[in-house]
Amino acid sequence: MSTSPSLLDIAANLSGYNPEDLPAQVALDFLTELVEPITETEEVSIFASLGRVIASDVISPFDVPPHDNSAMDGFALNGSQLNHAQPLTLKVVGTALAGKVWDGEVKQGECIRIMTGALLPFGLDTVVPHEFCELLSPNLVRLPLGKTKAGDNRRLRAEDLRQGAAALKKGSLVTPAAAGLLASLGLPHVRVFRRLKVAYFSTGNEILSIGQPQREGAVYDSNRYTVMGLLQQLGCETIDMGVVPDHPQMLEQTLIKAALSADVIVTSGGVSAGDADFTQAMMKKLGDVVFWKIAMRPGRPMAVGHITQSHRKALLFGLPGNPVAFMVSFLVFIQPALRQMMGSQKMPSPMVRAKTQEVLRKKAGRTEYLRGIVSKNAEGELQVRTTGNQGSGVLSSMVQANGLIVLSHNHPSAQIGDWVDVILLSL
Ligand code: AMP
Ligand code: MG
Repeated sequence: MSTSPSLLDIAANLSGYNPEDLPAQVALDFLTELVEPITETEEVSIFASLGRVIASDVISPFDVPPHDNSAMDGFALNGSQLNHAQPLTLKVVGTALAGKVWDGEVKQGECIRIMTGALLPFGLDTVVPHEFCELLSPNLVRLPLGKTKAGDNRRLRAEDLRQGAAALKKGSLVTPAAAGLLASLGLPHVRVFRRLKVAYFSTGNEILSIGQPQREGAVYDSNRYTVMGLLQQLGCETIDMGVVPDHPQMLEQTLIKAALSADVIVTSGGVSAGDADFTQAMMKKLGDVVFWKIAMRPGRPMAVGHITQSHRKALLFGLPGNPVAFMVSFLVFIQPALRQMMGSQKMPSPMVRAKTQEVLRKKAGRTEYLRGIVSKNAEGELQVRTTGNQGSGVLSSMVQANGLIVLSHNHPSAQIGDWVDVILLSL
């Protein structure tokens, strides 16, 4: 991995940087500076490209569509014959089917039957849908007044893409629509950035893996399942390193192993002030790591930096263990950082504004994220209510939520009917 700016350099250039009480926006700005996009690329088939990031502009090798063609089933004619005075009666001199060139001649007073997608023969520029037409005899059709203008129901050559133009830009995500577009160019392969390798482990003596018997004071590891889902949705290659007890040597070994194989290491637990402080000491020993107290709720503690091993440098994100704090911290900070690292263009966040249906009390000087349920009110406006209990361990409320209400750093409490920002949560 190439040389990246040191944490100290980044911190020195950020106004408002205070690791002990860090505004969420400053934390995001820090991460934008810290993260470096990967540069390695690979060629994959269109099917395999779904969810991947395009590594160089995809240039259209031809016009799409390559010829003017019909958008409807109907009758094709030279539209200059249409006038507003009287219906037009035309002789039907042939049929143009999709996929087959009809190369007869169509004169004034004549038309052809045409199917959707069929090429428009030379000189014809208008299609009248067949449901508007009256067939007087098998070869004679009357076109009504006023239903169609010259040029209607015609797909123009290159209206989708012009030869030589960028069909997809570097940094764009291959969505199902983009995969279809690539296929429409006849391209078997596409060059994408290689997948990001993300290693994850949970920490804590009290964390049980599924299959272990329950015991007093212990909880099953939920964060590992949440994060694997989030990482897979992002298109990352995941390395599941299980649960590591609060034990210095085991933590050290796991961090080293992760740094040797992954681009990014995500951990949960062990970064809050009250935690056994060897986690922080160990992360510092193995790399360049800062510990933040972010002015946010839920969340707050977070470790950010690099773990270095045999000249390999892996980005480290140490997140708080509380399941909701963990997930919110991931969505707000880690997801955009990973997207940037995957080579993705910055995408506008799926933020909407909705009227709050309840009073939202807010403490000044921190960003609060509330689990919300967005719906439409009788006026058709977006409205939002909270899922109720906002405890940072209450994962069931994260399941109910379809959005996160964001009350930014300087936002006051919100009264009923106030418009608030909501980040929509995707499936
Ligand atoms: P920590 O950040 O290590 O102080 O953990 C905070 C709280 O989150 C504790 O109550 C933990 O039991 C809980 N917790 C930590 N890690 C996990 C995990 N992987 N899955 C579920 N709960 C967790
Ligand atoms: Mg812990």
